Amino acid sequence: MSFAELWDSLLDIGRDPATGGYRRYSFTAADAACRAWFMKTAAERNLRTHSDRNANLWAWWDGPGAAGPAIITGSHLDSVPDGGAFDGPLGVVSAFAAVDLLRERGFTPARPVAVAAFCEEEGGRFGMACLGSRLLTGAVTPETARELRDGAGVTFAEAMAGAGLDPAGLGADEELLARIGAFVELHIEQGSALDGLGAAVGVAESIWPHGRWRLDFAGRADHAGTTRLDDRRDPMLPYAAAVLEARQAAATAGALATFGKVVAEPGAANAISSAVHAWLDARAPGQEVLDHVVGLIEAAARRAAQSQGVEVGVRRESFTPRVEFDQALRDRVSRALAGRGIAAPVLPTGAGHDAGFLAARLPTAMLFVRNPTGVSHSPAEHATRTDCEAGVVALAAVLEELTSP
Ligand SMILES: [Zn+2]
Repeated sequence: MSFAELWDSLLDIGRDPATGGYRRYSFTAADAACRAWFMKTAAERNLRTHSDRNANLWAWWDGPGAAGPAIITGSHLDSVPDGGAFDGPLGVVSAFAAVDLLRERGFTPARPVAVAAFCEEEGGRFGMACLGSRLLTGAVTPETARELRDGAGVTFAEAMAGAGLDPAGLGADEELLARIGAFVELHIEQGSALDGLGAAVGVAESIWPHGRWRLDFAGRADHAGTTRLDDRRDPMLPYAAAVLEARQAAATAGALATFGKVVAEPGAANAISSAVHAWLDARAPGQEVLDHVVGLIEAAARRAAQSQGVEVGVRRESFTPRVEFDQALRDRVSRALAGRGIAAPVLPTGAGHDAGFLAARLPTAMLFVRNPTGVSHSPAEHATRTDCEAGVVALAAVLEELTSP
């Protein structure tokens, strides 16, 4: 099957007709349809499938003659709210398409190959990014994961059980990890560096350290029309100070800091808020810079809160240290591509990926596919068909290199 047919077979699942964006949240109907798509796509290829203890999906190509540690490729199928079509699914679809391409050429891998789709990569429902790969590798405890709640108060464990999966088995899966030799994730670039370099495909060098912080500002609800300015305890003001400081501090330090989610209570247009809850996403090339930027934002929030009689609490919800991808594997990937005449520059990235968590336990590499505008986590996210096909060719080349006798 061509990349285009495979791509189109997934395209409509979980797309909101009004926004054109995707809402593929874990353990929802859209997610169930994505999981069914994965199982069907694998079955059509005679790949052996299973859902592991952490709700990650696997499709194994491990016929006779394949022995030793497996080479895994894949990504995720879940999305951020109103996300684009490519972030995640491109890696899964390309993985199946690369298997097709290798088989068309009559290639037989000497090592098992598996396509994986990791659960809750975006943290779109339960707030912790890369949850499936964190659980698999032991980067988060099953107790913590089970108790994560979505916006409606449903726990991860309840939602998982609701989808017919057993949350009792959550946690590090050493048996599965021991079968894996390396992981290669193909992903749309979440920036436009490749476009600037005129290359369709790139190789990842590192992932910036990054994290999510929750800021809770508690003030006092009051009437917007009758409460004198001096008498107010308005939590929106220190929140605003934090937003402005995030931009300033990040710009000065060469980092990125974003408030992308905010909830005001009670949320009335004619009332002073009683509370404001806000989420900060911050990323930087190095740990020290990141600590510095987050420290400045927190200090600005506290200063402004104090001056307004508002209480503020700051809590780190998730964090990923800087990831340096395995040098030897990266060199092998680059050589395999160069050997087939594919020019693939090496790039750092500010975006987190399952590959970042697997890198703590396994040699891991990433391929990026050009995103002409650099826009991601939005329906405008795009890669051309030609570039997607170049990505499949590159991924097939890498798989061939890593599984040749
Ligand atoms: Zn992704």
